[in-house]
Amino acid sequence: MPDLNFSRRKFIQRTIEFGAAILGIGFMGGCGREEEVEQTGFTESCDDLSNVSQSEIDKRDLYGYVEETPYPANRCDNCNLYIPPEEDERCGGCVLFKGPVFAAGYCDYWEPES
Ligand code: SF4
Repeated sequence: MPDLNFSRRKFIQRTIEFGAAILGIGFMGGCGREEEVEQTGFTESCDDLSNVSQSEIDKRDLYGYVEETPYPANRCDNCNLYIPPEEDERCGGCVLFKGPVFAAGYCDYWEPES
């Protein structure tokens, strides 16, 4: 006959360990963001589209915008249509749509700086 007390104890122990692991992951995520702010001094995130209209978000998708270029030599920050960030800002912009743009981003309309 199996030792039910041992199994129950083991189950509770594993549940506590699992819960602690989940809490740890959440805590690390929060620390990562705080560390980023501390290291860079910037609080804005270039993927925060909370102030961007759905039609402008749709344009991003239509043009194939991605936050990380698949072509290292072709990035938003060396594209002719890129709007560089102001001195106290982190994210740039693009003349094709509104909202923040990652310097390392890319879309199907990339064109070399002139
Ligand atoms: Fe980036 Fe495309 Fe805009 Fe150029 S046109 S800045 S590659 S989003």
